[in-house]
Amino acid sequence: MQFKDVVGHTDLKKVLIKEVKSNRVSHAQMLLGPEGSGKLMLAIAFAQYLLCDEPAGNDSCNTCPNCLKMKTLAHPDLHFVFPVVANKTNKIASSVDRLVEWNDMVLKQGYFNLNQWQMSLDEMGKNAAIAVEESRQILKRLTLKSYSGKYKVMIIWLPERMNAQSANKLLKLLEEPPEKTIFMLVSDNAEAILPTILSRTQIIRVPSLSIDEVADYLNKRFSVDKSVALSAASLSQGNMAEAIEVSRGAQSQHVFFNLFVKLMRAAYTANPLELMDVSDEAAALDKENQKNFIKYGLHIFRESIIMNYMKGELGNLRAEEAAFLDKFARFINNHNISELMTEFNEAHYHLERNANAKILFSDLSIKLTKLIKKGI
Ligand SMILES: [Zn+2]
Repeated sequence: MQFKDVVGHTDLKKVLIKEVKSNRVSHAQMLLGPEGSGKLMLAIAFAQYLLCDEPAGNDSCNTCPNCLKMKTLAHPDLHFVFPVVANKTNKIASSVDRLVEWNDMVLKQGYFNLNQWQMSLDEMGKNAAIAVEESRQILKRLTLKSYSGKYKVMIIWLPERMNAQSANKLLKLLEEPPEKTIFMLVSDNAEAILPTILSRTQIIRVPSLSIDEVADYLNKRFSVDKSVALSAASLSQGNMAEAIEVSRGAQSQHVFFNLFVKLMRAAYTANPLELMDVSDEAAALDKENQKNFIKYGLHIFRESIIMNYMKGELGNLRAEEAAFLDKFARFINNHNISELMTEFNEAHYHLERNANAKILFSDLSIKLTKLIKKGI
């Protein structure tokens, strides 16, 4: 990971680079700031810069052997410590046992919070900690000889999740640091960290990202539609981890909306080519999203009825949906609503039982042409 892969923080990056250039790298540093501001990414980019053979003015080269190993997080001098849920059956005792999943999460998403990390492992709500077994592993890893002949970098994500025992062990390490070892602590919450640890680290404060920075990144990195990205970014107030999650939900709503509008237009005009086209598009969604699309249709029908018969109750609609329903809702009325609901519910039922999606959607679209006519 290079500095250029990390959103924003131009001045901070300069500070970190200057540390390396002037050979004044503190052996224990803490990146401290709000969740979703990119502290972990900064720590990794810093580690790569530190280990790079030919760092340029403001970034690592990304092509030397050390950079190539850092790119996949497989560099032997890079060590991660992070909270895990201990589990005897699965032999999970410390970060080392979750490294594959961890690297995958960092490379695919980069910005994430503890909840998302646990969600990716199906361990929501369970107690994730940096327990005392971890300190044994830390010592073991730090006795290894440096592979690059340079520094060993240990990135500790969320040191606030250390229990008293492991925190005390870490404190000892910070007091008598092993040679050529850099500790990078990445924390959301300094108040939950032992003051003695805090006083041993050089604290670097990382501010929130701006809404524009977050929106721009969602759009470029995850191809989130611009308007969706902007609303996800402002809802999350610059928390990139949260914005990624919000935008994923919102993005699929946006995709379903476009598809639904297309389907209704094709049904209204009874244009066979368009009908075929849109049913192919729906059938091309993955299984889960085919069902979600059907549920989305049911939601829009329900909202149309509410709009027609109970004016002024539009709490559940997004702006693009409200604008569409303003014209569309009147075609959904007591002449067709119950049949429409039945058809969509049946489609959902059959999709759950692995019906052929192509046949199902083309069948549904033909039925729709008749049902929409009933409402005109
Ligand atoms: Zn390099």
